[in-house]
Amino acid sequence: MLRIAIQSKGRLNEESAAMLRDLGIDIDDSKRKFLSKSSNFPLEMLYMRDDDIPLVVSNGTASLGIVGLNEVEEKGYKVNIVERLGFGGCRISLAIPKADEYPGVEYFEGKRIATSYPQILRRYLESKGVNATIEVITGSVEIAPAAGIADAIFDIVSSGGTLVSNGLKEVERVFESEAVLISNENLSSEDQAVLNELLFRLESARISRGKKYLLMNIPESSLDDAIRILPAMRSPTVLPLAVKGWCSLHSVVNDVDLWDKVKALKAIGAEGILVLDIDKIIL
Ligand code: ATP
Ligand code: MG
Repeated sequence: MLRIAIQSKGRLNEESAAMLRDLGIDIDDSKRKFLSKSSNFPLEMLYMRDDDIPLVVSNGTASLGIVGLNEVEEKGYKVNIVERLGFGGCRISLAIPKADEYPGVEYFEGKRIATSYPQILRRYLESKGVNATIEVITGSVEIAPAAGIADAIFDIVSSGGTLVSNGLKEVERVFESEAVLISNENLSSEDQAVLNELLFRLESARISRGKKYLLMNIPESSLDDAIRILPAMRSPTVLPLAVKGWCSLHSVVNDVDLWDKVKALKAIGAEGILVLDIDKIIL
């Protein structure tokens, strides 16, 4: 039984659970439970605040975790970053009052900066040779300048709307983040085997993203042209139809090419074209 730590509530909770479900793992995420087991996969979910996930994975309380890269970087515990997961995207940026001129990063020399990410900020300021005072606050960082707690802030930004509504402007994008799958550095061989199965399923889900299944009827005389239009994973599937001189052709195409392919196929006589969503592609 492999234990995975995921956020108990908050921005990453739903997408973490949805990702596991998309991998065919049945999870009971009734939020009041602290620990729960999957009924069809050797996985146990440990629900925690995101701040604590890097620690529990690094000390082996959980073998895996799903958490923002920002938390991993800030906490600095030793863990392996196994996969970037493509959700929870955000950045941590420096922002200053809208009316201020911004000459460059030297603006921050001697200033007070409020943040919940003191380690990432400290490393950034050091790399730029800037001396500033870091004020650590754990919530509502964006109100710090208006409240007189600090001159500027270093905080998570996704759309930038919160900054604007607090009279601030983003001036330096310092750290790009997204949700990541992390693992303990010393997994047992059983845990490694479960992780490998998870990675195999993740890869299948990833390959199928942005792809459609296409099937159509085509005159046999146009088959060679159709196969040229539709290079498939190996080659398109061709099945005979009851009507003589016609066949059914099946293939997988990228979403972005779909309408160009359909146009080209219609031009050579394709009929009854069906476009279907693909759940998984297993290579
Ligand atoms: P917890 O109660 O678990 O400590 P939290 O309040 O610290 O939750 P959330 O606001 O739920 O954290 O954000 C969790 C993670 O979601 C962040 O660490 C970050 O990686 C990611 N994220 C993506 N977009 C945003 C955003 N606009 N604001 C904050 N976090 C974001
Ligand atoms: Mg948190």
